[in-house]
Amino acid sequence: NEGVKKEDRKLMETLNLFYVKQLDFTPFAKEYLAKRGISEASAEKFEIGYAPASFATLDFLSSRGYAMSEGIEYGVAGVGENNQPYARFIERVTFPIYSPSNRLVGFGGRTLSNHPAKYVNSPQTKHFNKSQLLYGYQLAKESIYKKKSIIITEGYLDVIMLHQAGFTHAVATLGTALTNEHIPLITRGDPEVIVAYDGDDAGINAALKASFLLSAHGVKGGVVLFGNGMDPADMVQNGLMDALNHLFRTPQPFIEFALERMVKKYNLKDPLAKQQALTEAMSYLKTLPQAIQESYTGMLSEKLGLHHNLVKIQSHKPQRLDKKERVFEDM
Ligand code: ATP
Ligand code: MN
Ligand code: MN
Ligand code: MN
Repeated sequence: NEGVKKEDRKLMETLNLFYVKQLDFTPFAKEYLAKRGISEASAEKFEIGYAPASFATLDFLSSRGYAMSEGIEYGVAGVGENNQPYARFIERVTFPIYSPSNRLVGFGGRTLSNHPAKYVNSPQTKHFNKSQLLYGYQLAKESIYKKKSIIITEGYLDVIMLHQAGFTHAVATLGTALTNEHIPLITRGDPEVIVAYDGDDAGINAALKASFLLSAHGVKGGVVLFGNGMDPADMVQNGLMDALNHLFRTPQPFIEFALERMVKKYNLKDPLAKQQALTEAMSYLKTLPQAIQESYTGMLSEKLGLHHNLVKIQSHKPQRLDKKERVFEDM
């Protein structure tokens, strides 16, 4: 049984070597990487490759003695409606995805043309559970332990460019939101966690959700935001190293970021809206480890412009309705 498994694993490694070799034969793909600012050393370190036309990949796998079923098992091939086999990664730059223990479990692929799916990732299989994996973790883990810090980004390019710029403790989720399932890996070695998502609306919203999740788990760390919709890869490519260094040294703590963003949504000049903001923020504070809930009521009252006596954790003493109503009378 173990012997069979080892053969299976080799399919992924064999295919990865094929992709890497194809990159050498594909000048426009190499030019693309250069244009994105990716050095040859980085391409080598991250084993970036190029998946050619579907038939070329399928031919390669069968020439190496792999059955279609094995390709399907690993998610690198599929079967279409008319029973036509196809390769999952077609004319895309490839990024191999490793498990923390360094097993090749999947790929990401970026189109270089105007294909509507900018990225294709390996599908969920028994070998590949993207909600527990972080891209680049196997390369970053030494640094994460040494620096006691981990940078979480959105994408492959962000990880590669940050590593290239010396931030070798950067990893990325695989096109998914951060969930409970990521927590064990993220907190390995108890690092400070820095969430460094794209500086667009989607990235900021995802950072807010990540802050809720991580603070509820008592994870230490915070969020950095980039301006003008930029992501970490853009920051590196634009040579904004001073800004990056400064941001990574001063992330906004998760709880502070969460409270600020929650409160900002409301028009605090409107007493009813302020009440809603208070209610929402209080129910968030209650998700935090109990020992620290109290210590944030002061920050919340400040952000709401309320007297600190009016913002209290109510877990033991239920609030009296008449008192609650009076809160906003003279605001
Ligand atoms: P690039 O700089 O090459 O445009 P990016 O990493 O900045 O890439 P984003 O659009 O910010 O791309 O997306 C972040 C991540 O989300 C990607 O790295 C990828 O993992 C995932 N992703 C993006 N688009 C798709 C898609 N169409 N299908 C699946 N995953 C996607
Ligand atoms: Mn994005
Ligand atoms: Mn991005
Ligand atoms: Mn990008």
